[in-house]
Amino acid sequence: MSHYTASVATTAAERKLLIGGEWVETGGWIEVRSPYDDGIVGRVPHAGRDETRRAVDAAEAAMREPLPAHGRAVVLDRVAALLAQKEDEVARTISAEAGKPMKAARVEASRAASTFTMAAVEARKLAGDVVPMDASPAGVGKLAFTVRRPIGVVAAISPFNFPLNLVAHKVAPALAAGCAVVLKPASQTPLSALLLAELETEAGLPPGWLNVLCGPAREIGDVLVEDERVRMISFTGSVEVGWSLRERAPRKKVTLELGNATPVIVAADADLDDAASRLAANAFSFAGQSCISVQRIYVERPAYDAFVDRFLPPVEALKLGDPADEDTDVGPLISTADRDRVISWIAEARAEGAEVLAGGTLEGELLRPTVLANAPPGAKVSREEVFGPLCTVSPYETLDDAIALANGTRFGLQAGIFTNDLHAALRAAHELEFGGVTVNEAPTFRADQMPYGGMKDSGNTREGPAYAVREMTEERVVVLQL
Ligand code: NAP
Repeated sequence: MSHYTASVATTAAERKLLIGGEWVETGGWIEVRSPYDDGIVGRVPHAGRDETRRAVDAAEAAMREPLPAHGRAVVLDRVAALLAQKEDEVARTISAEAGKPMKAARVEASRAASTFTMAAVEARKLAGDVVPMDASPAGVGKLAFTVRRPIGVVAAISPFNFPLNLVAHKVAPALAAGCAVVLKPASQTPLSALLLAELETEAGLPPGWLNVLCGPAREIGDVLVEDERVRMISFTGSVEVGWSLRERAPRKKVTLELGNATPVIVAADADLDDAASRLAANAFSFAGQSCISVQRIYVERPAYDAFVDRFLPPVEALKLGDPADEDTDVGPLISTADRDRVISWIAEARAEGAEVLAGGTLEGELLRPTVLANAPPGAKVSREEVFGPLCTVSPYETLDDAIALANGTRFGLQAGIFTNDLHAALRAAHELEFGGVTVNEAPTFRADQMPYGGMKDSGNTREGPAYAVREMTEERVVVLQL
């Protein structure tokens, strides 16, 4: 939850904006509040159009003096080391502003270090190709090769749910590619991004290569869309905002990492104990606020009862509570409005015939992990992204049916199948219309070097440093007459 204010409040952490290497105040402040108890956890300056233009000026100026690849790689490696060194502070910042349980916040902090390490590797091996010119009569007597050039200033817009690692997935590859960045983190969670900016500065990143703005999304977004010097917008967030940015910026590259309504198929021949424990953990981690949180579980009918019997106990055993407690599994949703939205979707599904197998009620202010059976395919919980601690379980008859059910939404980010039948696994991998398919692992799994991204409404790109660097560079061919 964030509030714009001009008043000076007592704050736990005060961080400034970074523009052209200067730490900047603007006179107005955004208070960052804990989604758990609404306490103030920090404040950041409030930027608008002017600061955004200054940030683009600074990024453009920085790129006029390119940094060599070895220098970029050294900075990226140093940031990785600093993130590892300061993992506790970093995880506490994530947890405080996002309401993310410490267990998950620690994983995010260490994954962000890995994202920087992988980006350093990409900086060191960024190279073009040699073109086999005498493969056609036209090319005989010529030598040609390609070089990869930075695309230009990159605007990065990031969501609240991974306030550090999804920033890392934009900032680290951009630097590896030789691009300067103007970053706008989510207003609910700007502190982790500004902490990361401090670490980048400490690591020796020269002025202008990373600029960070906080403030009204539309105002900052409009400048980033309109300014022709911004050559690429790298956006992670909701479907509606993402695709509308792409429509509004037809001459820029706009890469989109958006939502999902993550399905998983559990075949009767699967190891049901393993599937149940992996899915119980991955449907409710960070209260389901991951774009690949397990949402729809389809179980082959003969195994349905046995699966549900194994699935419900670990779900019921998840510990709700204060995200700052090291043993909490499930904390709050990002806002009361989001919690109430999920509650209304549960009520709607029940009215349409769904049965609550677990949860569905509050424990204090927190929504308990909720499992619904018999949710109709048309209910919101079956077709839209819940982004809350809820999953459905439904029986299926044939693998064809299961694949059709899994494909039956507008989303296509990741999906999974649990089976010991190689043929079924390979069919699912081919026929599930998703950017990633996991076999005998929850579809919530991601390692940061993987290509990660969606089809259909879920997006149009792949992140993971190697893939993002490709998006952030342009190939130039050089032809020499011999
Ligand atoms: P969101 O509301 O779309 O916000 C994402 C970012 O966009 C925030 O920084 C937001 O700023 C900014 N924004 C909002 N309106 C804008 C506009 N008109 N112009 C420019 N920027 C604008 O999404 P969210 O609620 O933070 O994140 C949840 C969504 O992200 C879910 O749908 C989830 O699936 C998706 N997600 C996808 C991935 C992936 O890799 N595919 C990963 C994580 C999350 P303010 O905060 O200031 O509004």
